[in-house]
Amino acid sequence: MSRFDGTREEAERHDRADPLGFLRDRFVHAEPDLLYLDGNSLGRLPADTPEFVADVIRGGWGRGLIRSWNDWIDWNRQIGDRLAEHVLGARPGEVVLSDSTTVNLYKLAWAALDHAPGRRALVVDADDFPTNRYVAQGLARQRGLDLRVVHSDMDRGLDVESLRAVLDDQVALVVLSHVAYRSGALADMAAVNALAREAGALVLWDLSHAAGTVPVRLTEDGADLAVGCTYKYLNGGPGSPAFLYVRRSLQRRLRQPIQGWFGQRDQFAMAPGFDPVDTVDRFLTGTPPMLSTAALVPALALVEEAGVDRLRAKGRLLGELAVDLAARRLAPLGFRLASPEDPDRRGSHVTLWHPDAWRICRALADEAGVVCDYREPDRLRIGPSPAYTRFTDVWDALERTGRLVESGRHTRLPRAKARIT
Ligand SMILES: *Cc1c(COP(=O)(O)O)cnc(C)c1O
Repeated sequence: MSRFDGTREEAERHDRADPLGFLRDRFVHAEPDLLYLDGNSLGRLPADTPEFVADVIRGGWGRGLIRSWNDWIDWNRQIGDRLAEHVLGARPGEVVLSDSTTVNLYKLAWAALDHAPGRRALVVDADDFPTNRYVAQGLARQRGLDLRVVHSDMDRGLDVESLRAVLDDQVALVVLSHVAYRSGALADMAAVNALAREAGALVLWDLSHAAGTVPVRLTEDGADLAVGCTYKYLNGGPGSPAFLYVRRSLQRRLRQPIQGWFGQRDQFAMAPGFDPVDTVDRFLTGTPPMLSTAALVPALALVEEAGVDRLRAKGRLLGELAVDLAARRLAPLGFRLASPEDPDRRGSHVTLWHPDAWRICRALADEAGVVCDYREPDRLRIGPSPAYTRFTDVWDALERTGRLVESGRHTRLPRAKARIT
């Protein structure tokens, strides 16, 4: 039996009892009536961010000029340590901000492949986020390796047994996402790490859809390597710098392919040859983008104040409400759940299948004030970020979806997809 009764009053009760309700006002809501269920693609703007970034621009850049680098030079490591402690369950000195998720994935995958020259294969999930598959394909081609593909279920996620079937003493590296971008399926990190270790392979985790909303325990779960972005549930802003994690005991044994001066020992000695520093900084490349790094500072403070465990508890309940309402209100209109049913096996987003999902998604944004994502094939992805989404927002969004589909207004839109879905 469902734990919900389907009424809006019940959603209102959950809002009143929400221990994180206070966080909503710490974000900018430029259109109060907009129901924004896309925090898993681009998190909202924290209210403190514009002023903080303006200070870095006027004070740091405008007045401090080059002198500000004395302070700025450490930000990517300081923020990395905060991410390690509050978001990633890692130790100080294991996480640093750098480049984009895609670039970090390439750097760490390359380093891991170099580390096991006798092994001729890497493993990727056929349903992983495209950039991960493309990077893995490129690495296999560049290095003449065998790319082994696991086929996880599009809606239910990775089955550890299918991973076991492709592992042997030829596999150097496994690349996987902790939370699947399409279905929200949550992989069993500890089990995968243990399985790979048994086969002598390293695992590189992509935490983009997990960081800031699902408790990640890299140390406890025995993780080797990880990357992830900061503009989804961490609300760092469009294109904010990504993070990378390398387990301490691996750091000195790995070398990344881009020998940049930010990875150099005694950087300003300007030595003739590259000699990477012993710390996690050896995975850095060049000058960090300070303005977008600055935007992450107030955002991270909010996640720390809320605590990922509380965010997870709320995100889970928001997801359960969405699944329950979808079954009541939307299943009769042709929708079905395209995410794991068990909330313990899901991250913070929920995906619904409908044959006309693309046009419904467009019409929701254009005519109903509901922003969510369309994802191939025929899926509507609902990402109610627990930091600022109310239970009534989820209720209202699904009700507006129901009314829209009943009205048939979406069928007036063209079937052709836009450049960005
Ligand atoms: C969002 C996302 C990315 C983004 O990579 P960028 O380099 O920032 O474009 C990568 N991997 C996954 C799994 C994602 O969800």
